[in-house]
Formats: sequence, C-alpha cells, structure tokens
Amino acid sequence: MSDTRPAISDVREDDLVLWLAARGQPSYRAKQIRRRFAKTAAASWDDLTELPVALRAELAKAFRWSAVSTVTEEASADGETRKVLRALIDGQRIESVLMPHHGARNAVCISTQAGCPMACAFCATGEMGLIRNLTAGEIVDQVRHWQRELGARGERVSHVVYMGMGEPFNNYGPTIASARALMDAELFGISPRRITISTCGVVPKIDELANEGLPINLAVSLHAADDRTRGAIMPINRKWGIDEVLDASARYVERTRRRVTFEYVLLAGVNDSERDARTLASRIASRGRTSDYHVNLIPVNAGPGGFERPKAEAMEVFAEVLREGGIAATVRISKGQDILAGCGQLKVPEGDAAPAGKV
Ligand code: SAH
Repeated sequence: MSDTRPAISDVREDDLVLWLAARGQPSYRAKQIRRRFAKTAAASWDDLTELPVALRAELAKAFRWSAVSTVTEEASADGETRKVLRALIDGQRIESVLMPHHGARNAVCISTQAGCPMACAFCATGEMGLIRNLTAGEIVDQVRHWQRELGARGERVSHVVYMGMGEPFNNYGPTIASARALMDAELFGISPRRITISTCGVVPKIDELANEGLPINLAVSLHAADDRTRGAIMPINRKWGIDEVLDASARYVERTRRRVTFEYVLLAGVNDSERDARTLASRIASRGRTSDYHVNLIPVNAGPGGFERPKAEAMEVFAEVLREGGIAATVRISKGQDILAGCGQLKVPEGDAAPAGKV
C-alpha cells in the first residue's frame, strides 16, 4: 500500500496545533516539534525523546519525518562540491548541491520541480521536460538534509540558491512558502539576504515577488542581449521578451530597493561578441541606475546543444565592456562539473525514477 502520510515539513503550524489539540496535547508542542525538525540532527521521530512515547508513535503514524530520502551522493574531485540524488515519495527524483566555500560559507542549491518545462537549449534539466512541481516540504527538506549533516560538525547552511532543477516561478506558491520557512527564525533562521531565487523571466511572478515584502535576492536568467538570439535559445522569450523582462526587473528594484543579478551564460559565437556586450550594457543602462544591477557571466557548462565556451580573453572583453558601461560584471565558473553538478547540469537519467522507497 502506498504511503499517504504528509511530510511534517508540509504541515502548517496551525494545522499541527489542531492535530495536537485533538489528542489532548498542548499547543507549545507544535513549536517544540518544528524547532527540533529544523535545528537539530534528529533523524527520525524516535529521536524526539522529549516527547511522550505514545505521542511519538502517533506522530510517526500520521506524518513522515522527511519528504526526501537520499539515493546516492557524489563528491567532486575538488573535495568540496557535493551532489545528492534524492527520491520523493512517489519515486520521482531530484538533485541538490552543496557548495562549501573555504569553511566560510555553505551554499546549498535546491530544486523546485522534478524536471523543468522551460526547454532552454543549453540546459540538461530542460531535456527532461516537467515531471511535477515539488511541495514546499520537498523544497525545504533539501536544505534540511544538509543542515542536519553540517550541524553535526558545528556548521550550518549559510546561503540558499533556488538554482537547481526547475523554474521556481512556475511553482510559485510552494517556492515562496519554502523561502518563508527558511527565513523563519524559529526554524532555519537563514537571512533573507542570503536567499536567492532565480527565474528564466516569468514576468508576472517577478512583480508578484516584488509585492511579497520578502527581502530576498532575485536573479534573472537573461542569456542574450536581443530578442532574436534569446528567442533561439530560450523558448520563454516568445512569451516575455527582453524589454519586458528588463522592465519587470527595474520595477523589482524600484519596489524592493534590492539589486537584481542578471545571469548570462556565455556561448561561443552565439551571444559573446563585443557588440552583444554593448547592446546589453545600453539596454540595462536605459532602465535607470546601472548600480542597481550585476551581471554574472557563466561560461557554458557541457550540456545539450553542443555549445562551447568562448576563449578566456573574449569573456574578459565582454565583462570589461559591461564595466565600462558602469555595470558590475563577474565571470563565474561553476564548480563540480566532474560530477555534473554545475549550472544547468542537473538531470536525472530516464528510467531512473524507481518505485518509491521508504522516505
Ligand atoms: N529556471 C531558473 C532556475 C535555474 S538556475 C532559471 O532559469 O533561472 C540555473 C542557471 O543555470 C540558469 O541561469 C540557467 O540558465 C543556467 N544554465 C543552464 N544550463 C547551463 C549550462 N549548460 N551552463 C551554464 N549555465 C547553465
């Protein structure tokens, strides 16, 4: 029989209070349980020894302790980056990545969908198509997994980027609910300034996020300076063109007073000319203060489409042109490519969504 228990990470505090009340339990237990679930190394209901034994048994019968279970884990040869393949209750699989940085920070890259419907020409996840949206608990529990492990050695997850599989703004509600849980001081307590959501340019949702009053970071995958080029590599551009995406980004800056990062994957011979750089700089500049934006140049990682990286010199010239236009630009080489953990490399092989394991 299939497991129909919701994961505790998908249960709202109010609902947990009601569930407890129905069993004659005080409401403070809800906070107690939630704190334990986010802040400690507890690996199952059995570890919550501060709860009465009978209550623990009832909780275990009603709720899964985690929404995800680990299938395999790989470490990059650089010794730092790690990628985990996780199973969801229905057997679907997702990946997430830990990116430690010299012991100073631990960034976690998480998925919001199994697969992705956006079909960007250079992205491996896009080749999967959309399998399904994740629940807020399935998103949060990717962080919880790393938090538990890091916590055991006195460290913690310091940064979270929504840059794994999927388009966060195509799964807006659960994505925002998960970000709120990550920020919640009684749960993970991660500073919103260290949380970044990345979108391929779903314009109405950029506006919706601007109105949430969440001081988190927004990254927008731009990847081209003109609609013809962008349309050829990103199907979403047929729905919202570059001007609409840039205007929405400007509204976001205006509304939140936060800087927006543009991601720009560099594809040799496609979008990497000096002219592209000049066009990009002037289009961004025409939206207002250039200091409101930052461009992250990402040399393409091996993936679909057979795209190649420009020569290092060409990438530097591209960055320099942007800087001359007053726009901060950095070239970011993603790590962990030997284990296919770099940007756009997350993909679960077909036929690998095995029957549900115990979660
Ligand atoms: N769907 C969201 C979240 C994914 S973030 C978005 O598009 O923003 C992952 C980032 O990696 C995106 O900027 C994506 O365009 C980029 N990417 C995809 N394939 C890549 C590749 N082969 N090399 C480098 N970056 C890639």
